[in-house]
Amino acid sequence: MKLLSRYNFPGGMRPATVQDRREYYLNEFQVGKMKRWFDHWSSPVVFALVIGRHTRIFPKEHRNKFRDTIVIDEYRSFMDVLEWLLKYPPESVYYDRNIYTSWEQARTKQDVKDLGRKYGQEMAFDIDPENFTCPIHGSLEQKMERHQGLSFCRLELQLARMQVLELYELLSRRFGDIQIVYSGRGFHLHVLDDKVLWWTRKKRLAYANSLIRKRFVMDEWVTAGGIRMIRLPYSLNSLVSRIALPLKPSELESFDPLTDPRVIPSFLGGRA
Ligand SMILES: [Zn+2]
Repeated sequence: MKLLSRYNFPGGMRPATVQDRREYYLNEFQVGKMKRWFDHWSSPVVFALVIGRHTRIFPKEHRNKFRDTIVIDEYRSFMDVLEWLLKYPPESVYYDRNIYTSWEQARTKQDVKDLGRKYGQEMAFDIDPENFTCPIHGSLEQKMERHQGLSFCRLELQLARMQVLELYELLSRRFGDIQIVYSGRGFHLHVLDDKVLWWTRKKRLAYANSLIRKRFVMDEWVTAGGIRMIRLPYSLNSLVSRIALPLKPSELESFDPLTDPRVIPSFLGGRA
């Protein structure tokens, strides 16, 4: 448990135990809602999970692969995916934003330089609280020097939430279908418009940089496509014990992940 002390989270957030994760995926995880998230996808959806890379919490039988990214690219239905989640109660679950034209293409490693030519990608923006400079905890660099690069506080969370609303407004002027997802730490904005799916890496990077110049704080590598895995909505972020949840912009105004029962798993008393 000593290793966990390097992360500080605001009140009530803590890493989930293996038992917590099992309970969540057995009793609370909503496969139907996850399935609906992918309703507009006509291409293969690849999933991935990590058992315990950051928390070092994992079932003993998986001790040889707790740091690995386990790719789920062979399944018949979304219920099969749930079986994987019960077998390896994960720290984190992701899906691949790439739009592959076939399962064969999905199962071969894709290079980011082929983005926009061989395959498309859902565009996403990643806004995390630790990236904001805090009057108490300093900049991300200062937090990293103290080996607290994943830590964040309530104030940083507020700063992230405000910026997501601003970014949503800006993106709305140009794109039609934008989804906001609370990720357990910060927020993801997904742009689902068809026209964006086939943007090249270069075009994505230029767009991300134009936003950074407008003082938006984001991980440009996510937007440019280099990091293609993104947290699966409705999955459990086991680093902090919060449920990844799509939110309407109007809900974001008053959203508080420390107290909102919709994002607190029942092992911590949420969804009563
Ligand atoms: Zn802070």
